[in-house]
This record gives sequence, C-alpha cells and structure tokens, in this order.
Amino acid sequence: MQNSKLFINGKWVEAQHKEYMNVISPVSGKSLGKVSKAAAADVKKAVEAAKMAEEKWRFSHHTERSKLLYKVAKIMEDRLEEFARHVCLEQGKPISDARIEIQGCVDYFKGTAEDIKRLETAVIPSVDPNKRVFTMREPLGVFGVITPWNFPFDIPCFILSSALAAGNSVVFKPAEQTPLCGAKIVECLDQAGFPPGVVNLVQGPGETTGEAMSSSEDIDAIAFTGSIETGRKIAANAGSTIKTLLFELGGNGPIMILDDANLAKAIEGVSISCFMNSGQVCNSGERILVAESIHDRLVKGVTESASKLKLGNPLQEDTNMGPLIDESLAQKVDKHISDAKRLGAKVEFGGKRAKGFPTDLYYMPTILSNVTPRMLISREETFGPVCPILKCCSVDEMLKIANSTEYGLMSSVYCSNMRDAFYVAERIKTGTVAINTPSIYWEGRLPWGGMNKSGIGRQGGIYSLLAMTQLKTVIMDVTSS
Ligand code: NDP
Repeated sequence: MQNSKLFINGKWVEAQHKEYMNVISPVSGKSLGKVSKAAAADVKKAVEAAKMAEEKWRFSHHTERSKLLYKVAKIMEDRLEEFARHVCLEQGKPISDARIEIQGCVDYFKGTAEDIKRLETAVIPSVDPNKRVFTMREPLGVFGVITPWNFPFDIPCFILSSALAAGNSVVFKPAEQTPLCGAKIVECLDQAGFPPGVVNLVQGPGETTGEAMSSSEDIDAIAFTGSIETGRKIAANAGSTIKTLLFELGGNGPIMILDDANLAKAIEGVSISCFMNSGQVCNSGERILVAESIHDRLVKGVTESASKLKLGNPLQEDTNMGPLIDESLAQKVDKHISDAKRLGAKVEFGGKRAKGFPTDLYYMPTILSNVTPRMLISREETFGPVCPILKCCSVDEMLKIANSTEYGLMSSVYCSNMRDAFYVAERIKTGTVAINTPSIYWEGRLPWGGMNKSGIGRQGGIYSLLAMTQLKTVIMDVTSS
C-alpha cells in the first residue's frame, strides 16, 4: 500500500480536513493506497506558497533551472522500471508502453533543460533613430497544472518541465484516478531540490480542488489537459479572473484511407491508432474513413489484426491491451457501441467486455463496419478500443465528414499520390495531420494542440516555452543623458 500527502511550500503535509481518496487499480480492483484530499483552504495555501516563491524563482538564472531539470531527468531514469510498473497498476497500460512513457518524461526534462538556454528574443527596428528596441521573455507567474489519467506521467511532465524551465512556479493537480503517479513525479522534483514553494501538489476532485484553482485570483495561467466539457468550466472561471489558458482537449481523430493507399501500412496504422492504451489516447483513430474500392479488404485486415491482440494483465510482457480506467468510461463505450448497432452498424469483432478478468473493465478490441456520421460513435469521442469504419465515395466526402465535428486535434491520411495527401492536409481542420503515419504518432518537441474546440495554444519543446512566457518590450534612448 502506498499513501501520499499534499506537497506545499517544500513539505509533505496532510490536508486540513484529514480526508482521503482511495486509489483503486483498474487491473485488480484492489486498493493501491490512499492520498490526502485537498479542500479549498489547502489549495489557497499552495497558491500562496507558489506566489511567494515565484517572486524569487523568476530571477533565478536559466542555467540554474537547467541543472535542476537535468537532476529530475536522472532521478526519473534511475526509477524508470519502478515507475513503469506503477503506471501499469494505477492506469492499466501494458508495461512496454509504460516504459516508453517514463522514458519520454526523462527526455522532456533533458530537452527543456537545453531549450531554455536557447530561448531567443528579437531586436526590433524603431521608427526613431535615437531609440533601440528589444524584447525579453519573462515567466507568466503562478501556473495551475490540471491533468488527466490516460498518460499520468507523460502529460504532467510535458507541462511541468517547461513551466518550471520558463521560471514559473506551479500548483499541480493530477487526475483523481492516478494521484499516486502525480505524487511520484513531485517526489522527483522535491529530490532534485527546487526551492520551497516553486512546486506544489494538491490532490482532489476536479469539482472542488480543480475549481478552487481555476477560480483563484492568484493563479496567473492554467495548463489544462482533459475533456472539452471540463475545459468549458475552467475557461468560465478563468474568464472572470483573467488567466492565460493553454488547453489540450479531446479529439475525434479521423483516419482517411484513399483508394491508392498502401493497404498493409494503413491496416497497421489503424490498428495501432485505435488500440494503443485501449483507445484511451486523445489522438486515437476514432473514425476510419475508407475509399469504397478498398473498404472490404481494410475491414478484413483490421479484423484479423484485432483478433491477434492479447488483452490481459499489463504487467505481462506480451500483453497488448490492459483494462479501461473505470466503470464510467466502460459504460460510455457500451453506450456508443449499442447506439451504433441500433442504427445499423455491424460488429465485425469484439463489441463487448471480456470475461474472466479480475475486473469488468477489460474491453475487447472492437471493429465496427457500416458506421455512419450520425451515430454517437462518429460524433463524440469514445476513448475506448473501438475502430468505427465509414465507407466513403470520394476524398471530398471524407473531408466533409472528417471536418463535421467540434473536435480538431489530430488526423491521418494514407495514400500514394502526394498531391492528394496535400489536398487533404491543407483542408483538414486539425492541429496536426500525419501522412502515411499512425494518428497516435508523437514527438514531444513538435508543436502540439487542437483546432476548433480541441484546444487553445500550442505546446511542445520551444513552443511550450513561448506559450509559458510573456514578452516584455524594452525601449532605450541612446542619446547622451
Ligand atoms: P477530465 O476533463 O474529466 O479531467 C481532466 C482533469 O480535470 C482531471 O484532473 C480532473 O479532475 C480535472 N477536472 C474535472 N472537473 C474539473 C473542474 N470543474 N475544474 C477543474 N478541474 C477539473 O478528462 P479525463 O481525465 O477523463 O481525460 C480524458 C480527456 O482528456 C479526453 O477527452 C482526452 O481526449 C483528453 N486528453 C487530451 C489530450 C491532448 O493532448 N489534447 C491528451 C490526453 C487527454 P478529477 O480527475 O479529479 O475529476
């Protein structure tokens, strides 16, 4: 059993009301431990500590911050296997993917430690011959960081590494389902030696702990990753308290497969994109739009591929898919599949929960054909291991369907003719488009973010540093005094 407290002003402390949240493993259904649950008063203390610390931290030299980030990377690297095994149990992804996730975090800290040394600004020609003008980049202040459970190490580290490198202090709230992962990240930051108050951890439900953050007058910016629905609530509070917002929200990723696509490559890309992390990925393949001429062969190929996936204990090396995170998500997947069936979709494979596992959260990889745009599964993000296939008559029809939802995070197009690839890439309304590449492709230093309602701003490498700092313009008179 692992228990954890809040981390405020450099100390691990109990929450004021001595209330706790039980952490249940989706893998076994058993408790992994409990964490202190923050009330609004605890959030206030964390924000005050962050505000106080930020006044000094913002003037720390970037090389000092860089050294601390390298230390975090080393500490995480030394605990990589321990952390990966913990991710399996708390979140449910297979061990091979969990190792990649922790290695990614190590790389974020190392990458940002270098990027911060190269954050350039401009010298701007003035209209006045006696003036010289240049800009400086300064931190935004206190950053609220609110994250989801599906990449419980990756997403917090992606944000925290850059927010801290840029000289902000942070108040971090991990998801309720994976608070122990959040605590382990903060253990690494604590051990690396960030000054007290620069990093603060508050645990608790979004409606209380998260709300206290988004409505705080002393939090200057919020980096939030999660659903559009929660994004709306945070934006409403942030609007009245005037905060900078960086939002990475949901997706409903279209994968478009044109008639001249390399079919084997497309089948492989669809399978990876739909079933990685049991489909609990913001850039999963959520709608597979296929040219009529290759439709039947694609359905056959992805069905064969799904039938070979091993669902089971994520700690076993040969497992491809673990459980879903909780009953509420499993019910959403049930609902999307039954709605699709009712409206005429055909279940080619799966379509239900698997039997014989320690919890009811193990969902079979599912292939649906005869899917139409009006089904819930096409209109909303499912966030489960489902591959819904829609037959299309033309590239323009694919684009019309692909662009018909409120989402716009990531898309993929498979075809041989690069003129068609660019026709699609230039018209699709997503923040990223992958050509002959799975939609779940990820490089942490590329600009990442959504169009439409899938997000606000771009993060990743230097783009995170730009988003997490603000420009100050300096105008200097050069005539003698
Ligand atoms: P949620 O929006 O439910 O929760 C995300 C975080 O917000 C959690 O920490 C949650 O806390 C918190 N929260 C909930 N309500 C509030 C509130 N009123 N005020 C402040 N904070 C609140 O998303 P999920 O955790 O279910 O994550 C899945 C979603 O995240 C999917 O839509 C997915 O697409 C998206 N996502 C987007 C990514 C991107 O890069 N664009 C990457 C990964 C995921 P609590 O857990 O306590 O409820």
